[in-house]
Amino acid sequence: MYDVAIIGAGITGMSIARELSKYDLKVCVLEKEVDIAMGTTKANSAIVHAGFDAKPGTLKAKLNAKANSMFDQLSKDLDFHFRRNGSLVLCFDEKDMDHLRDLMEQGIQNGVPDLVILDKAAVLAMEPNLSEDVVAALYAPTGGIVCPYEMAIGMAENAYENGVEFFFENTVLDIQKLNNGYALITDKNTFKSKLVVNAAGVYSDKMNNFVSSSKLSIIPRRGEYCVFDKEVGSYVDKTIFQLPTKLGKGVLVTPTVDGNLLIGPNAVDIDDKDDLTTTRIGLDEILRKASLSIKKMPSHAIIASFTGLRARTEADDFIIGEVPDAKGFINAAGIESPGLTCAPFIGAMVKEFIVEMLHPLEKSNFNPLRKGIHHFLEMTNEERKALIKQDPAYGKIVCRCETVSEGEILSAIHRPLGATTLDGIKRRTRAGSGRCQAGFCMTRVLDILSRELEIKRTEVTKFGGESKLLVGKNKQDV
Ligand SMILES: Cc1cc2nc3c(=O)[nH]c(=O)nc-3n(C[C@H](O)[C@H](O)[C@H](O)COP(=O)(O)OP(=O)(O)OC[C@H]3O[C@@H](n4cnc5c(N)ncnc54)[C@H](O)[C@@H]3O)c2cc1C
Repeated sequence: MYDVAIIGAGITGMSIARELSKYDLKVCVLEKEVDIAMGTTKANSAIVHAGFDAKPGTLKAKLNAKANSMFDQLSKDLDFHFRRNGSLVLCFDEKDMDHLRDLMEQGIQNGVPDLVILDKAAVLAMEPNLSEDVVAALYAPTGGIVCPYEMAIGMAENAYENGVEFFFENTVLDIQKLNNGYALITDKNTFKSKLVVNAAGVYSDKMNNFVSSSKLSIIPRRGEYCVFDKEVGSYVDKTIFQLPTKLGKGVLVTPTVDGNLLIGPNAVDIDDKDDLTTTRIGLDEILRKASLSIKKMPSHAIIASFTGLRARTEADDFIIGEVPDAKGFINAAGIESPGLTCAPFIGAMVKEFIVEMLHPLEKSNFNPLRKGIHHFLEMTNEERKALIKQDPAYGKIVCRCETVSEGEILSAIHRPLGATTLDGIKRRTRAGSGRCQAGFCMTRVLDILSRELEIKRTEVTKFGGESKLLVGKNKQDV
């Protein structure tokens, strides 16, 4: 019997798992996909929000600024990319200045430090590629950018090293109440646990509804993005938002921690919780809206597009806490934006509930540190030479666009909770994320995965399940 079973290996579940791994508790994570961070955590704006956006009084507002301040230490401990680049909310019309000032007031109420309104000259001096139509902007120096899946993987690896057990490709199909806890029935097994944490993202309504008569409903809200080549990665330095107006919420333009430029998202409610398609209409919409913020849209440099799904509930706020009619069942549900930013605080909050319920002892040997993969691209030539001397696999470049070596790919496969798929390698090393979008390295990575995991090349998948890359040989019946 587990003390705690966490459903979902996204940023919410992983933050909770890491917090619980500090205690003498038997904890497991059940995840339907083949890897960490395969839900909304892999597809969002990757902004560490300053915290001026949420309505005061909501959980989102209470957690955001506090969680934001946790990122400096956390990114050092877990060795993930994070940059406090600051954010600007652009105002394009003098008539909207009151609204901009209200936003600043709201930020101050939410505890956001150092907010300031800049005039046009100051904004353009800070960001010369912004549109001349800007009249002023709200500057939040504490805004940041992060790699969401690298962060989730860092938390997961650290939780695993500290004793948390992971079960991938286990879809929770039902949850039944027992005298002393719950039975979680997956497509592979039954797991018994005293407490359950529901961190199932867009499916957190379904998990809640197995055990509670107080039903939740999550309507997935699609957000589409365009990713630009690194050639234009420094077109802006800050994260550029648009002041919401009667005409809509606007879209953002931001650099990423990996050096790309990102624009998006739009917002369209859909029915299918697994529909990650991008649409011509949606991409046109974000390109049109983002063009209002910058002088010239570098459309020639778009290399990829993707969709993320927000876990929208009617409450329009996070739902965190024990379910009143299901003792020992804790929701971390409806975690939409700024859920990535708030995750470290949500982890600590849920841990507090559990400590109060089970009174576990703190571990004396908890190791808070995790070391990430050595990224060849980020090293000096001296460091490269030294590493190649130690391990010649770092001298073989597999992904040319992102300068990813075989050494990094081997590390991604053989580290704790290592990659087993092409996308798993991509998210850990960036092989396949560059300009050619894996056109060059896909077959090479496939060969390495096949060799190292001792599986046939035809069994290697892009993201698990039936997403096989090879089906047979040319001119052979399949
Ligand atoms: C378009 C968009 C933009 C965003 N931008 C930002 C931003 O810039 N900053 C910010 O702070 N936040 C942002 N967010 C919000 C943030 O991405 C989410 O709050 C966060 O990723 C949610 O993480 P999660 O772990 O709760 O959910 P998920 O990452 O979806 O994880 C849930 C996990 O549960 C698993 N699961 C589901 N059902 C089952 C089952 N039956 N059995 C087992 N496992 C199951 C899933 O496979 C998944 O891995 C954005 C969201 C979207 C969609």
